[in-house]
Amino acid sequence: MKRAYKYRFHPTPEQAEELVRTFGCVRLVYNKALEERTRAYTEEGRGVSYTESSAALTLAKMGAPLDIVWSRPLPEGAEPSTVTVSRDAAGRWFVSLLVEEKIAPLPPVERSTGVDTGLTALLTLSCGEQIANPRHERRERRRLAKAQRALARKQKGSNNRAKARLKVARVHARIADRRRDYLHKVTTRLVRENQVIAQVIAVEDLAVRNLLKNHALARAISDAGWRELRRMLEYKTDWYGRTLAVADRFFPSSKLCSVCGTLQETLPLSVRVWVCACGAVHDREVNAARNMLLAAGLAES
Ligand SMILES: [Zn+2]
Repeated sequence: MKRAYKYRFHPTPEQAEELVRTFGCVRLVYNKALEERTRAYTEEGRGVSYTESSAALTLAKMGAPLDIVWSRPLPEGAEPSTVTVSRDAAGRWFVSLLVEEKIAPLPPVERSTGVDTGLTALLTLSCGEQIANPRHERRERRRLAKAQRALARKQKGSNNRAKARLKVARVHARIADRRRDYLHKVTTRLVRENQVIAQVIAVEDLAVRNLLKNHALARAISDAGWRELRRMLEYKTDWYGRTLAVADRFFPSSKLCSVCGTLQETLPLSVRVWVCACGAVHDREVNAARNMLLAAGLAES
């Protein structure tokens, strides 16, 4: 399978200038190629293949080698098929190498886990363990607000405004980096330790429109990185020969007693601990995670 390796690099001022020029150039050539494709299709009824288009594109030849930070090694003998250079809003340069790679599945393990995704705890596992939600954005909020206020005061089009904008972008980039690092650690650990991961996202009680209306909640959810978490779990389980089971969104993971299977009629979000008629005492999230694991086990057998 193809896997992208992304590294930061520090261009010399000359290289940066060259790259900025090339970016403009690449965009222009791309637009031209797109135009040609459209023209060929509408006028001649033939499609121009991507290979034909990309053969018309060349990327910049560099005099000096790029100062790349090899934060992790490329697999041995890897021949990148595509090299992409990019710069983010915080002004950082990256080179992304697309490599054809064989990823060996991890040895099978006995353990499986149900996982409930939430806000107080980012994850609650069916064994009862809770993995904290570090809320990176909330912790950086004061710094972010300060940078945004400074930006708002700067005159439009001024140099100082560009500098202030960069400062805001840097805070955003730091938040995003930390969140990603954390999610990588969490998902790698889950995938390593478990054969089957059954995940439920705890939105069953939150109507989507309420979610959108509630700005603070939407922000907290984006800060928790649920979508990114799901994406990582998907490709990592795929790489390493594990199974990811995801609940139907109508699966009543919270309201079901994981001991006797009785369904509660209502269970307001404010109720964190509840007692079933069978006598079982449930932590809301742990119970949801257990139900997911049970459901995944039933589906498998
Ligand atoms: Zn019960």
